[in-house]
Amino acid sequence: MVCPYCGKEMEKGIIHGDRYKLKWISDKKDKGPLLQMFTKGIDLDKDGSGIEAYYCEIDEIVLIKT
Ligand SMILES: [Zn+2]
Repeated sequence: MVCPYCGKEMEKGIIHGDRYKLKWISDKKDKGPLLQMFTKGIDLDKDGSGIEAYYCEIDEIVLIKT
């Protein structure tokens, strides 16, 4: 994966969602943490084995492939 900002190769890694499922929810749909479990979002950790993510040290961004 190449960083979209600086064009350098990003470092591959993993994000582990502890006890709770990690979900991306649009700002338009976000109704606070209590209602988040009922909000349809993008499930990041589909099989519970962690989320593949790429990190760029220069830009300090993390890219997650859903
Ligand atoms: Zn970068």
